[in-house]
Amino acid sequence: MNVLFHLTSAIGLAVLLTDAKSITRSQTVRPVLVTGILGFAAGIISHGALDYIPHCYPVNAKADAVTGLLLMLFLTVKTNRKFRFITVATLLGTVFPDLADLAPAILNKQLDLNLPIVEKVFPWHWKEYSGSIYQNSCNISTLNHLLLGASVIIVCWCRRADVVEMIKRGR
Ligand SMILES: [Zn+2]
Repeated sequence: MNVLFHLTSAIGLAVLLTDAKSITRSQTVRPVLVTGILGFAAGIISHGALDYIPHCYPVNAKADAVTGLLLMLFLTVKTNRKFRFITVATLLGTVFPDLADLAPAILNKQLDLNLPIVEKVFPWHWKEYSGSIYQNSCNISTLNHLLLGASVIIVCWCRRADVVEMIKRGR
């Protein structure tokens, strides 16, 4: 699936996992560390689920990579310092499988390098478990993308107090 959709899922996951009030009250970094590690793991699992369900690629690969990078930077900068580790870890978790499996081949192609290409590690990148649609209609893919977007919006709305706390300036 396009990187942008994986990053969209990261927003929902980070908001879902972060108990902003208790982190703000906490005197230690432990809840931030635990939530960040959970966010990274949940990001990998969500990547698997999104790659497994039927999907097309509505955003072209280069635009996807550039806007994805910009979105990551934007979200990192916009997150209050106290929660930044959680945001970054969750974002990285949702793109990690693609970085591990696909980045060497892409870098070789784009930059004319000779990095070794090994067997893909994550099963949802293998032909038999990937939901990539290369022919036929993309209707089901569009529906899946819309459901993802709607789920993230609903999570952010239901947990809006945490969202406000996470993007609040200062301290
Ligand atoms: Zn992938």
